[in-house]
Amino acid sequence: MNKTYSIKFSSLKQGLHHFDFKIDDTFVREHNLSEIRAAKVLVSVLLEKTSRFLKLEFDLSGTVGLECDRCLELYDQQIAIQKELVANFDAENQSDSEDIITLSSADHSFDIEHYLYEFLVLALPMKRVHQDIKLCGEENIKFIHNFARPAEDDPRWDVLKNIK
Ligand SMILES: [Zn+2]
Repeated sequence: MNKTYSIKFSSLKQGLHHFDFKIDDTFVREHNLSEIRAAKVLVSVLLEKTSRFLKLEFDLSGTVGLECDRCLELYDQQIAIQKELVANFDAENQSDSEDIITLSSADHSFDIEHYLYEFLVLALPMKRVHQDIKLCGEENIKFIHNFARPAEDDPRWDVLKNIK
C-alpha cells in the first residue's frame, strides 16, 4: 500500500501499471469530510502510460460511515465507484475544458488525492438510511425498553426492605 496518493509516472515504462491505495479515517479527517465519519475504501488504479497520455482507471470499493437520516446512528454505506481520467502530455492539444488534464514535461508524478476526494463526495447517496430498516427500529425499541423498565432490582432499595 502506498502511504501517499501520488503516482510517480516519469520512471514508468510505457504500458499498464497497477497501484493500490487506501482511503481511511485519516483521509476523512484531513479533508474535513463532515458528512463522512469513517472510511474503509480500497482504491485500485490501473494506469496506462503512452508517449502522449496517461490513462487512469479507478476502482473504489468499500464502506463509508454516514449518519442515518432516520435514527441518527452511524451506519456503513457500501460504495463502488468506477472512474476514468486521462492526462495528456501534449501541450499543443491543451483545452480550456476542466475535464482534460494536461501534464507538463516538468511533471514527474500525478497526485490523485483531490480526485479521490471528489469521487467519494459525488458518490454519496441522497438518501442515507440503514439499508436494513430493522437496524433502525431495533435500536429505538431497545432505547424505549430501557427507559420503561422499572428499577425493581436496584440494590439501593434493599436497605429500605430491612427497615421495619
Ligand atoms: Zn438508522
